[in-house]
Amino acid sequence: MKVTLEHTTKKFPGFNRKQTDVVAVNDVNLEIPDGLLVGLLGPSGCGKSTTLNLLSGLLKPSSGKIFFGEDDVTNLPPENRGVGLVFQNYALYPHLTVLQNIIFPLQNLKGKDKLTKTQMKDKAMEVAKLVQLQGLMDRKPSELSGGQQQRVAIARALVKMPRILLLDEPLSNLDARLRLQTREEIRRIQRQTGITTVFVTHDQEEAMSISDLIVVMKDGVINQVGKPQDVYDDPADLFVAKFLGTPPVNVFRGRVEKGQLYIGDENVLRTPGVTDQEVFVTIRPEGFELNENGALSCDLHRVEVMGRDVSVVCSHADCENTAIRAIISADNPVNMADSKVRFDLKANKVHIFDIETQQRIAFETL
Ligand code: ADP
Ligand code: MG
Repeated sequence: MKVTLEHTTKKFPGFNRKQTDVVAVNDVNLEIPDGLLVGLLGPSGCGKSTTLNLLSGLLKPSSGKIFFGEDDVTNLPPENRGVGLVFQNYALYPHLTVLQNIIFPLQNLKGKDKLTKTQMKDKAMEVAKLVQLQGLMDRKPSELSGGQQQRVAIARALVKMPRILLLDEPLSNLDARLRLQTREEIRRIQRQTGITTVFVTHDQEEAMSISDLIVVMKDGVINQVGKPQDVYDDPADLFVAKFLGTPPVNVFRGRVEKGQLYIGDENVLRTPGVTDQEVFVTIRPEGFELNENGALSCDLHRVEVMGRDVSVVCSHADCENTAIRAIISADNPVNMADSKVRFDLKANKVHIFDIETQQRIAFETL
């Protein structure tokens, strides 16, 4: 089911007259294509949960509209929207078994939708199979691991075959290994069911790894929407460039003069077509090439071994990161006796941004 937000705004009133309103979601336009898994990504407080709750119907927008397919659902209560919801704290009923927890949403169905006990059980077993809980149906939540509890919550959200599945930081309570495993599970379940899914997270790696599309938000506004790789390769602004990628991107102050990019007094790259100005320069960790005659020189601190690659840790007066990390193949020897290290830059791993607007300035990479 396609989902559309049209000039959607959500304001929360200040608690007293002196406080200003909080605009949690600010005039957002977004189209989520049918059948995709979309990662809604941004730092804490940027409006992700508010956006999700506007979709679920738990919150009503202050202005703007929400469509599921062609239906205007803006004023539809949550129970009539056909959404499945999963939160960070699994919110299972502790006194009910796994089976009873999954069946629970089916028990309130009325009229022509009403199900018999057997039908309910059949449906519950079907989704239990999908999330691989078959052997655990008689347990109580306290007898399950965190990952299993979250699978019960997902099964419960799926049992009514929702039109849209909404997940709000579903992996945050899990340990690192379970987090990886459960995110694969979610990807598989989404593919198998084809349900349009919105997955909220503040973890860029999590969003990048499982999403068909990512939506990057900041301060209630969408900065960029796109395929994870496209957003990584072509960030719309400095915020997006900094938010995506581990280790983080290296941010320098630089300037363009006569189509050449300078950091300090070193000419590091050709930037044809860009007018003379000061700029922010971002260089991805994988954008450095070790070269003893390279264009950019940095102060060498240490080399961290990562196996296949090494991370050259260095610094530069015009870089806002205290430690620059350059990731290069372990085959390239770095002479630790030197106090300086020189790099050439890979043009497609370097981006420049307007100092004022922080929007990206495109240049041709040859
Ligand atoms: P996120 O999920 O991205 O961390 P939220 O959507 O929860 O962010 O919150 C966005 C902003 O709206 C925050 O500044 C938050 O403090 C504010 N906010 C959220 N819910 C309420 C509320 N019920 N009342 C007042 N302010 C709220
Ligand atoms: Mg949140």
